[in-house]
Amino acid sequence: MTVTINRVPSLPVYLDHHATTPCDRRVVEAMLPFFSEDFGNPASVTHEQGRRAAKALENARIDVARFFDVQPNEVYFTAGATESNNLALHLLRPGDGLITTEMEHKSILVPAKKLATAGVDVTILAPDREGFIAPEQVAEAIRPNTRLVSVETANGEIGTIQPIEAIGSICRARGVQFHTDATQAAGKVPIAMGNVDLASISAHKLYGPKGIGALIVRRGIRIEPLIAGGGQERNARSGTVNVPAVVGLAEALRICREQMGEEAEWLTSLRDQLWKRLTSEIAGVLVHGPRELRLPGNLNASFERVDAESIMIAMRRFSLSSGSACSSGAPGPSPVLKAIGADDATAFAAIRFGLGRSNTREHIDMLVDDLTRTVHRLREISAA
Ligand code: PMP
Repeated sequence: MTVTINRVPSLPVYLDHHATTPCDRRVVEAMLPFFSEDFGNPASVTHEQGRRAAKALENARIDVARFFDVQPNEVYFTAGATESNNLALHLLRPGDGLITTEMEHKSILVPAKKLATAGVDVTILAPDREGFIAPEQVAEAIRPNTRLVSVETANGEIGTIQPIEAIGSICRARGVQFHTDATQAAGKVPIAMGNVDLASISAHKLYGPKGIGALIVRRGIRIEPLIAGGGQERNARSGTVNVPAVVGLAEALRICREQMGEEAEWLTSLRDQLWKRLTSEIAGVLVHGPRELRLPGNLNASFERVDAESIMIAMRRFSLSSGSACSSGAPGPSPVLKAIGADDATAFAAIRFGLGRSNTREHIDMLVDDLTRTVHRLREISAA
């Protein structure tokens, strides 16, 4: 099959597509006119430049809505998934109940913690050993005051794809709103939006620009703005909208829509090649996360008796990341790996492989060769 190879430098080989993705060239091209030619403020409806920007903004909103099979007036542009997640949780008031999970990104867990101290009744569900949250767990946790359930669509460390359709259906039946952080899933796997009330996405995870995202809010749900001011985005998010970035997000989603099926198949085959070779050619490899219902480009594995940090330092030809790097900068074991039952040593030994559009079979072969050598050498050093 053919996938678009971006002009990323050939070395080091980028294998961290869960952290961010290169902006697709077609996305950059779509954005360019909106910097210096059609540069208007979309709120300036009194003149041509403003009207052109407004038109681009509304066309992008239609495209994003189409991708998620929702209405354009259900799309609110934000500065990314961190803001979208914060905005979704901001609808909660003291006394309300929130149910979320240990698998979530910090942009859910940190605000949830803050809400708990402000009097919101927060329940955090634990996953099973593959990272799944069972719909029954959600059903059992719902209380009369439960207002919102937030479960991610897929996990960015171990790739687990949650049963959001079933969870959403329980929420709907019980009259509870359902939010899903779709940041890692959008553009990678189909998302069943039927029972979803709110969804967060971010452009830079799907070959779009950084600093732009959206919160999808189904009709009838009132959100409380985090940022007040000029009343843009129908009062949900004040501030002049970043038109070039919004155009980029829409174009990135258009490309994903076009090639998602083929790309998922391709990445799954690359990932499975990596999985097979790693577990058959290197002793003491433990793969974290599920075999099925996993993001196509994701693999996460620990290498017995070597820490991830040493592997990443030694593997100069690859850009890798560790499931154990704490995003605040303080190194600590990954909360996701701890949540699925990994001990500290295993969590510190985990490498997250994030395959994407720019990767090839040759990259996988090179990676396995380098990893085999590196792991053996590090084990020899530690045994000496
Ligand atoms: N949610 C998930 C699941 C993520 O992986 C990320 C990015 N690491 C975010 C939210 C935050 O996204 P952004 O970078 O757009 O703020």
